[in-house]
Amino acid sequence: MTIWNPWHGCTKISPGCAHCYMYRIDARHGIDSTIVAKTGQFDLPVRRKKNGEYAWLPNGGSAGVCFSSDFFHPDADAWRPLVWAMIRERRDIDFFFITKRPDRFYVGLPDDWGMGYPNVRIACTCENQAMADQRLPLFLELPIRGKSVICEPMLGPINLRNYLAKYGEEIGSVGCGGESGPKTRVLDFDWVRDLRAQCEAYGVPFSFHQTGARLFKDGRLYYVPRRMQHAQAKKAFTE
Ligand code: SF4
Repeated sequence: MTIWNPWHGCTKISPGCAHCYMYRIDARHGIDSTIVAKTGQFDLPVRRKKNGEYAWLPNGGSAGVCFSSDFFHPDADAWRPLVWAMIRERRDIDFFFITKRPDRFYVGLPDDWGMGYPNVRIACTCENQAMADQRLPLFLELPIRGKSVICEPMLGPINLRNYLAKYGEEIGSVGCGGESGPKTRVLDFDWVRDLRAQCEAYGVPFSFHQTGARLFKDGRLYYVPRRMQHAQAKKAFTE
């Protein structure tokens, strides 16, 4: 998936943010991650070549948005309507956001949003039960056509049964994964097994994205190298 970051920078709001990869990368370059600033690719989707064709994804496709920030961050309120306008114009591209701020969804939402633009999917991240119970009652009521839930980095067992029972048909998928980086918290594979069983019970697609760097499975703690984390997760339910 191609990534489009119209702005960069964010502030930490919950335990899942503790080891944010964007902070980690910025620290290597001496960048203050807390400053939310427009990037040079702000207007990327609507740039045109001399012949009038779109310069970016001229044949359409899919794009992840704001992967080094949060689309609903308050410091980006002034820019969000402009981004919505670009998304409206590029109906040939499917845009995907991940947010921890579903409570700010309505700030700057375009008047013609209705039940949601068909080319926008939004995932809400919930790293533990407290964040699931804080964010999902809001998120799952929002007018969004493509919704998914991501429990990553998964920091404890998470019971989504109530949400799956009530909103199962609206939730396109549930994903989970561990944490990467040098100071990672442990992912207990039993939490993953349980979440998968919940999704199966309610017929909601489930995926285990990555093990993270430290995985506790069947009584053993595994240190999983970065390059193996996705592959190991893929194999986890086939062995
Ligand atoms: S909301 Fe996302 S981008 Fe922002 S600090 Fe938390 S993990 Fe990082």
